[in-house]
Amino acid sequence: MSLPSLAEARRIVVKIGSALVVDPAKAAPRMAWLEGMAEDIAALRARGTDVIVVSSGAIALARRSLKLTQKKLRLEEKQAAAAVGQIRLAQAWSEVLAQHHLTAAQLLLTLEDTEDRRRYLNARATLTTLTGLGCIPVINENDSVATAEIRFGDNDRLAARVAEMVQADQLILLSDIDGLYTGDPKRDPTARHIPVVESMTTEIDSMGGEPPPGYSSGGMRTKLVAARIATGAGCAMAIALGHVEHPLRSLERGAPCTWFLPNPEGRTARKRWIGGSLQPAGIIVVDAGAARALTRGKSLLPAGVTSAEGSFERGDALEVRGPDGTVLARGLSAYSSVEAVRIIGHQSSEIEALLGWRGRDELIHRDDLVLV
Ligand code: GLU
Repeated sequence: MSLPSLAEARRIVVKIGSALVVDPAKAAPRMAWLEGMAEDIAALRARGTDVIVVSSGAIALARRSLKLTQKKLRLEEKQAAAAVGQIRLAQAWSEVLAQHHLTAAQLLLTLEDTEDRRRYLNARATLTTLTGLGCIPVINENDSVATAEIRFGDNDRLAARVAEMVQADQLILLSDIDGLYTGDPKRDPTARHIPVVESMTTEIDSMGGEPPPGYSSGGMRTKLVAARIATGAGCAMAIALGHVEHPLRSLERGAPCTWFLPNPEGRTARKRWIGGSLQPAGIIVVDAGAARALTRGKSLLPAGVTSAEGSFERGDALEVRGPDGTVLARGLSAYSSVEAVRIIGHQSSEIEALLGWRGRDELIHRDDLVLV
């Protein structure tokens, strides 16, 4: 069995915990560490790998200056601290990435952004556009607006949702531990390191234990939840030690870690969901040329569409039919029915003039399309 390697990934999401980003003694960003990290990111980008960072640290960066140093903060105190600290956090990332001529782009997401289909598609389009433009998205939870019930609360799960959203090949959780152990190695001397988890089982879940004390909210438990989300979406995940100067370089050179292998069904499961369980909200009829392009695995462009029926929103499922009425495919629409009717039959370059804003080139992107 061959383990995943960073060198072969197209798109990587790296999650970085507060303890790595923030120096507790100074309550400031650990700039030397961040500089090493930026160098690793630049090396990946130079090879053509898209890198998306999920960085914690906003709350930890502001606690001291706001005199919120008690162990447990109320939700509104955390939100206030995040509002202050996020500016510092983004500034630190922007500075270290700029040293490598990379542009940092800040995205603050809530649970709803990753669960509501329309918002999910929106966030995904923004992220893929940013990586396409060569930027490094730096994501955190939008702590200041998320209420208790709709909060991730930890960036492990958020990072896994992001990896799922952008169809990353690999999610790397940089942590204060070099992977999963059969028990808590701090308390149990017989605890063994597990280098690879082929599939998520309840036995693996039970190794999660309780969250640690202190500023971080994650712990092993949320990392295993993240592993379920990521591997279930066909993305490999690693838990690796972050407290080294070049964590990604070290990982690539064989530093110990735990790899969670992707579920081979992961990608097909999403396609199955698109193909099967969604009730189509509209019907799209395409011309012969577009029908041929679809069978060759291409996206559906507005130019090849002859009619759009039904009332649908962006993100809704559509049925795609050929000129003779045969059902060819199902997919998620990138436009609402009102917009679709205006752009069908037109070149994608005309979309901006037709709608007044520049949307996606495809009416249904091939990642969101399943042939039937
Ligand atoms: N979003 C929080 C912050 O930036 C951290 C959440 C976590 O610890 O994972 O401070």
